[in-house]
Amino acid sequence: MANQHYTLLIVGGGAAGVSIANTMRRKNSKIDAAIIEPSEKHYYQPGFTIVGGGEYTLEKATRNEADLIHPSVTWIKDYAETFQPDENTVTLRSGDKVTYDYLVVCPGLQLDWDKVKGLKATLGKNGVCSNYSPDTVEYTWECIKNLESGTALFTQPPMPIKCAGAPQKIMYLAADRFRKKGILDKFNIEFCNAGPGMFGVPFYAKALVKVVEDYGIKTAFKHNLVEIDGPTKTATFEVTDSEDKKKRVTKKFDMIHVTPSQSAPDFIKKSPLAAESGWVDVNDKTLQHNKFKNIFGLGDATTTPNAKTAGAVRKQVPVVVKNILKLMANNAIVEGYDGYGVCPLTTSLNTVMLAEFSYGGKVSPSFPFLDSRKNRLIWWWGKKVGFPMLYWDWMLKGITLDIPSKQSYNKRFTEES
Ligand SMILES: Cc1cc2nc3c(=O)[nH]c(=O)nc-3n(C[C@H](O)[C@H](O)[C@H](O)COP(=O)(O)OP(=O)(O)OC[C@H]3O[C@@H](n4cnc5c(N)ncnc54)[C@H](O)[C@@H]3O)c2cc1C
Repeated sequence: MANQHYTLLIVGGGAAGVSIANTMRRKNSKIDAAIIEPSEKHYYQPGFTIVGGGEYTLEKATRNEADLIHPSVTWIKDYAETFQPDENTVTLRSGDKVTYDYLVVCPGLQLDWDKVKGLKATLGKNGVCSNYSPDTVEYTWECIKNLESGTALFTQPPMPIKCAGAPQKIMYLAADRFRKKGILDKFNIEFCNAGPGMFGVPFYAKALVKVVEDYGIKTAFKHNLVEIDGPTKTATFEVTDSEDKKKRVTKKFDMIHVTPSQSAPDFIKKSPLAAESGWVDVNDKTLQHNKFKNIFGLGDATTTPNAKTAGAVRKQVPVVVKNILKLMANNAIVEGYDGYGVCPLTTSLNTVMLAEFSYGGKVSPSFPFLDSRKNRLIWWWGKKVGFPMLYWDWMLKGITLDIPSKQSYNKRFTEES
């Protein structure tokens, strides 16, 4: 490929990248845009929870990238490798260079499987499963389906991770599956979380304690998984006590669902676009890079302290598109993103608690007339049918569906009620 130039260049063709390209095309079809994306397959990752729970198929959660990128947008099928922001250039793994007027960086995050000793060697066998990869998610269902009794562990690493509720969502689906088979009392189910509580937003955390109690699930907080031995079915945790002292604890398991540690992709960490934390360094509200004004970032890859979710991407895309168009017209950019994120917590095989919140853990429901801590059948159908449609047929196609979330919550549903 010869060196190329685009008005708009996008790194990453996942939830954020495809949505940005297609939204921009709808706003101004004359802008020449390209996406750098190495993968032929595009996954609807929010569906992985219900694939692991046996309620959805991986096939339904997978589409060809080629069918999602509009033909007027150039697809550069390669990896972005390095950034030269002073020269408005991205260098690809092939060695080719692509220049741009405006750059959007959204390559998602990196799953650090290696942080747990022994995990890679045993993942996908010995009862060790994970919903966090398309390669391993179907094995989660195999484990849940085939187990008749024993100890089932569900782990959560230190934050940040994508969809912070996902480590416990699959636990409730497993517990409800066991209950429906009449074998729940034959299980010891334990939630081993590196963090200090059920959920980062206290409003929802309290409601989740009730869900855990209802299934008889045990909780082990400040338990960070550090090692797994598949053949002997043992998991070792580093446990931090109330005086901040650390010790190691080993637990036996019959199945263990592992959520891996997560961080910014390595090529971002070592780039001039990274903050000290390694994430793409952008303004929380405008999503503009803090140093390079013609660069924007969104999705899982950035420093913004929101819940890393596709729901956040849905709210970020219009802000980035609007701000790039404003820069093109020499206008001031806007602070349009309030940190919205959403976590549809699958509390059983037919109910979901729709947790929605924005920066600072402010409860921000799209439907403030409903108590969002309630486990509802309607959101289960949202999870199985409505949200995938919203993703494939609206967001990825560049159709902005603005459901305003309310930060002022209905007084009838305060924490005390
Ligand atoms: C188990 C699970 C459950 C989830 N549940 C929910 C949920 O219920 N609700 C919700 O809203 N969200 C959920 N999420 C999170 C959601 O899927 C992500 O937040 C969302 O996909 C982030 O979009 P993104 O575009 O930033 O990253 P991604 O969608 O991951 O896309 C990143 C893209 O960048 C590409 N890329 C990587 N490296 C490079 C490179 N060097 N050069 C070019 N391209 C590159 C990748 O191939 C990928 O296509 C869940 C995720 C998981 C794993």
